[in-house]
Amino acid sequence: MTAQLIKGAEVAAQIREELQKEVAELKAKHNVVPGLVTVLVGADPASQVYVGAKEKTSKELGIYSERYDLPEKTNQAELLELIDKLNKDPKINGILVQLPLPKHLNEGEVLYAIDPKKDVDGFHPVNVGKLMIGKPDYMPCTPAGIQQLLIHSGTQIEGAEVVIVGRSNIVGKPIANILLQKAPGANATVTICHTRTRDMAFHTRRADILIVAAGKPKYITADMVKEGVVVIDVGVNEIGRTAEGKRILAGDVDFETVKEKAKAITPVPGGVGPMTITMLMMNTVRAAKVAAGLA
Ligand code: NAP
Repeated sequence: MTAQLIKGAEVAAQIREELQKEVAELKAKHNVVPGLVTVLVGADPASQVYVGAKEKTSKELGIYSERYDLPEKTNQAELLELIDKLNKDPKINGILVQLPLPKHLNEGEVLYAIDPKKDVDGFHPVNVGKLMIGKPDYMPCTPAGIQQLLIHSGTQIEGAEVVIVGRSNIVGKPIANILLQKAPGANATVTICHTRTRDMAFHTRRADILIVAAGKPKYITADMVKEGVVVIDVGVNEIGRTAEGKRILAGDVDFETVKEKAKAITPVPGGVGPMTITMLMMNTVRAAKVAAGLA
C-alpha cells in the first residue's frame, strides 16, 4: 500500500477561499471588517518570518491587519500596557503575541492579559478550560488545523483509536481534547504518550490515527505502525543544510518507510504547517462575528 498524501496546502487554500468570501460578505452586508494585530518583541529571524506570513495572509483575505515590532529591551509593563490598549481597541478582534518572547519577559502573564474574546491563538486559560468542558470558543491553531486535515481527508474519526505522541500545551494536549469532544469530527478514543510512556510501540501499533508531535526526527518507524493507519506528522526538524544553505526538514515520522504501510499521511513540509495560519484567520473572523453579535 502507498499512502494517500494529505496535502495541507490544498486544504488550507480551500478554507482560505471560503474565508475570503465570508470576509467580503461581512463587509458588504454588515460593514464588519475583522482585525488582527501581531505583536513581535525582538528580532528573532524565524519569528519575523511567521509574523510576516500572518500579515500577508490577513491582507489577502481582506482582514484588517496591524503589526507592532517592539525592541528586544521592551519590559513587562510596556508590553502589558500595549495589550491593554489593544484589548480596548474596537478595530482589533484578534491579538497574537508571537512566541517565544525574550527570556526576561513573563510569557504566561502576557498571554493571560489578552482578553479571552480576542485570544485567537486559543492559549488563554479561559479558552483552554472551555475546550476542556466541551464548549470551545477559540481552539489553538495547529491542533484545530489537524482536525480539519482529518475531516477533509475523509478519515473516520468517530470511534477511532487515536494515539498522540507528545503532551505539550500547544499541540499534544489540545488535539487530544479536540478529538475527544462529543461532537462531529471528534468522538475518538484518545491515548496520549510522552517520554515516560513504558512501551511506545505497543500504543502506536494500536492507532487508527497516529498524531506525532515530539520534535524528534524520524522517530516513528514502519515497525511501530499498523497497516492502514492515518498518520499526522506535526514535527518540523532541521536535519541539515543544502550546499546553498537552505534548511533540510524532516518530520517526526520516517516518511519513506511509514508511507508504505499507511492509508494516508501528511508530508513535512506541506502537511500540518500550512494549516496553522489558516486557522488563525478562521478564529479572527469568528471573533469579529462574535463582537458584532453575528455568531
Ligand atoms: P514540545 O513542547 O517540545 O513537546 C514535545 C512533546 O513530545 C513532549 O510532551 C515530550 O514528552 C514528547 N516527546 C519528546 N521526545 C519523545 C520521545 N522520544 N518519546 C515520547 N515522547 C517524546 O514540542 P511541541 O511544541 O509540541 O512541538 C512538537 C513538534 O511539532 C516540533 O517539531 C515542532 O517544531 C512542531 N510544531 C509544528 C507546528 C506546525 O507545523 N505548525 C506547530 C507547533 C509545533 P515530555 O512531556 O515527557 O517531555
